[in-house]
Amino acid sequence: MQENNTACSYSVVVPVYNEELVVNETYRRLKNVMESTGEPYEIIFVNDGSRDGTREIVTGLCRQDKNVKLIDLSRNFGHQLAITAGMDNASGQAVIVIDADLQDPPEVIIDMIKKWKEGYDVVYGKRIKRKGETFFKRFTAKLFYRLLKGIADVDVPQDVGDFRLIDRKVCDALKLLPERNRYVRGLISWLGFRQTGVEFVRDERFAGESKYPLKKMIKFAMDAITSFSYRPVKIATYVGTVISAASFIYLIVVVIQKLFTRTTVPGWASIVAINLFFNGIILIMLGIIGEYIGRIYDESKRRPLYIIREKIGFKDEEND
Ligand code: UDP
Ligand code: MG
Repeated sequence: MQENNTACSYSVVVPVYNEELVVNETYRRLKNVMESTGEPYEIIFVNDGSRDGTREIVTGLCRQDKNVKLIDLSRNFGHQLAITAGMDNASGQAVIVIDADLQDPPEVIIDMIKKWKEGYDVVYGKRIKRKGETFFKRFTAKLFYRLLKGIADVDVPQDVGDFRLIDRKVCDALKLLPERNRYVRGLISWLGFRQTGVEFVRDERFAGESKYPLKKMIKFAMDAITSFSYRPVKIATYVGTVISAASFIYLIVVVIQKLFTRTTVPGWASIVAINLFFNGIILIMLGIIGEYIGRIYDESKRRPLYIIREKIGFKDEEND
């Protein structure tokens, strides 16, 4: 299972989805940084079903530079699975995951490597500032990290993305967690090991637009929460219990009124209001339970996490 192609020190994993405007520049900056380490490295681009010229550009880079490799996924599997595919195929003693759009400055890798050499197994990049992102994105991101910290069963560091360096030990341990709707940075926190962070300023996207529209962001947030917390279901139980207790008390009041007084009014409006309110709550609770059941269903199908169409630049190419 272990594919130790070449004994290189560093593997840089770069997921790319419709990034034709940036890959060349990403390659140039990464190459500069990695060359400056003076140690062997590989740059693995994972093409996540791009519909533009990304694949052709990366194929060209592979031809020019033997340190560049391509994993071409059979379709768009999403950012988290793309980085998983990259990590699964990395052979370095340290694996670095970085976004393709240069929002994560490649130069920070040098600081990460320094920490790794001090003996840390996971060195994550902590964003102290985010440039060039909309207020909405910054606000929702902040809210999400705070919410997750509040309810997750694992301590996920704040304002930390997937930009990080992980040791081979951690990379191998991650393969033992085959879950589907993955929140990779959470899984890495769960693994433990010696973790630390380096701070950096998140730059603007070099070119093109975000590949994380609101729909993907919501799915991502849901995956994060459901992967690391039962709290939403518990909250549903508590709310349900409180509401049934209150309803029961009111039921007794109504029965007493009906039997012993003449004050019961034919209140159509209040009945409709109460009905709508409780039906709404019940649907939300069913939705919460559904989110978990859907994920159980996904797991039970036991499909592979991703499918590789082609690998370029790897020693064992012909076997895949
Ligand atoms: N990405 C991917 N698959 C997707 C969406 C995004 O591989 O379905 C990659 C994308 O090419 C980039 C990284 O994931 O390298 C982060 O995406 P993006 O910069 O668009 O997200 P944002 O920074 O806006 O959150
Ligand atoms: Mg980005």
